[in-house]
Amino acid sequence: MPGGIKTDVRNYQLYINGEWTDSASKKTFPVYDPSTEEVIAQVPDAGPEDVNRAVAAAKAAFDDGPWATTTAQERGRVLFRLANKIRENIPMLAEMEARNTGKPIVEAEYDITDVATCFEYYGGLATKILGFVNPVPDNAVSLTMKEPMGVAGQIIPWNYPLAMAAWKLAPAIAAGCTMVLKPAEQTPMTALEVAKWFNEIGLPPGVVNVITGFGETCGAPLVQHPDVNKIAFTGSAAVGKIIVKQAADTVKRVTLELGGKSPNIFFADADFEAAIDGALFGVFVNQGEVCSAGSRILVQKSIYKKFVEAMTEKAKKVKLGAPLDRDTKMGPLVSKDQYDRVREYQEIGKLEAKLAFGGGRPKDFAKGYYVEPTIFYDVDNSSRIAREEIFGPVASVIPFEDEKDAIKIANDSPYGLAAAVWTRDIFKAFRAVKALRVGIVWVNHMQPTYVEAPWGGYKQSGFGRELGPWGIEEYLETKQVHINLNEAPIGWY
Ligand code: ADP
Ligand code: MG
Repeated sequence: MPGGIKTDVRNYQLYINGEWTDSASKKTFPVYDPSTEEVIAQVPDAGPEDVNRAVAAAKAAFDDGPWATTTAQERGRVLFRLANKIRENIPMLAEMEARNTGKPIVEAEYDITDVATCFEYYGGLATKILGFVNPVPDNAVSLTMKEPMGVAGQIIPWNYPLAMAAWKLAPAIAAGCTMVLKPAEQTPMTALEVAKWFNEIGLPPGVVNVITGFGETCGAPLVQHPDVNKIAFTGSAAVGKIIVKQAADTVKRVTLELGGKSPNIFFADADFEAAIDGALFGVFVNQGEVCSAGSRILVQKSIYKKFVEAMTEKAKKVKLGAPLDRDTKMGPLVSKDQYDRVREYQEIGKLEAKLAFGGGRPKDFAKGYYVEPTIFYDVDNSSRIAREEIFGPVASVIPFEDEKDAIKIANDSPYGLAAAVWTRDIFKAFRAVKALRVGIVWVNHMQPTYVEAPWGGYKQSGFGRELGPWGIEEYLETKQVHINLNEAPIGWY
């Protein structure tokens, strides 16, 4: 078997204060391979007591541990060592991630490579956290200092398990925070594997703690904990709204990345072949389980019919298969819940629009949470399949008249994470860039993501930015320092 993962069930513990430990309740829950529906691991079912333990360890490490005096250079080196470990283990981590999420192995290899790159990037950035001298008018030195925010709670989803962990761990470590990471209950394995290296790479106990559990019993107590200073969350809009409410009582800093219903806009003058590829890739990559999926495909009327036909022809060639098969372009969805949800939207779509392709479960799979890549057309932007995030390979194709019409439809969404525009006209492209109310715009491409560039959304897609220097800013507080240079009393009294 490639990478050497045995199919027997792996047993994991929680990683708290640099040690491996069971949950207080001793309870565990199963982790699945969605292509076989078999249990591949058991992980602790952490509850409020375990959250308390992990937060106490993170707080002690922040307040009293060696981390407080660790230099920026050393924090950077810790991140470089972690990046090296991950690079050396890409085959093992990619295979585990493909097996646990259902994503194609080739995509998983890209993901894990990006994970290593993310740790390298923030390894370099650790020594570039800069202060400022404020030009105040008095005989004084006024400084702006950047300091770590304290204990961060990090709650992540299942679609890119280790990448989502890296986007949060790397800047928080670089900033000098301590943290409690809670992976998604569906996909906790790779974060726990990586935690096995934390001691060796020089992370002191308590700096990074990893606890596995469910949203309400493990995530919520982390959000409410008074000693947690910041919550970074990526996940559904529904849970994001709960988190904002729950964080209010302790006035926590919160950053949210909540997905979307991103428009992928095709003007008649676009390169047609590239456009068809971009439309399919935008919504079918990673089985469509992508927060920035181009799930609303807006096509200019003059090319609309030809476009739907070409998309359909090419969708027939998307190879569904086992995640570890290198030819596979689409694996199963991550879980039974997600499968049921996507199947339901396929049925809703049949009532709301016309079906060009797919719409069900593929016939040749006896087991596994596979769904067909699905294309609906003549979709009205007010319908559920155009407004609600499906998080699966379901495309809603919507016709538009002209530029004005396209922008109006694109912006008519509660979400605002990303958008893409396809045209050969640079002026038209830039008018769209400015008019789109989203955090990310791609021109003649869909989905490329770089650690150097900001990631995050407008409107109900959340707030705050990850990646780049923006990502580290979200883990820093700003302190004003005033140093009086007058060697005399104020002279007021
Ligand atoms: P999905 O519905 O696809 O599972 P979620 O937004 O529910 O997406 O999950 C994203 C992450 O949020 C997971 O780690 C999950 O455990 C966590 N989570 C779910 N509900 C809550 C909650 N009420 N409080 C805190 N975290 C939660
Ligand atoms: Mg959920």
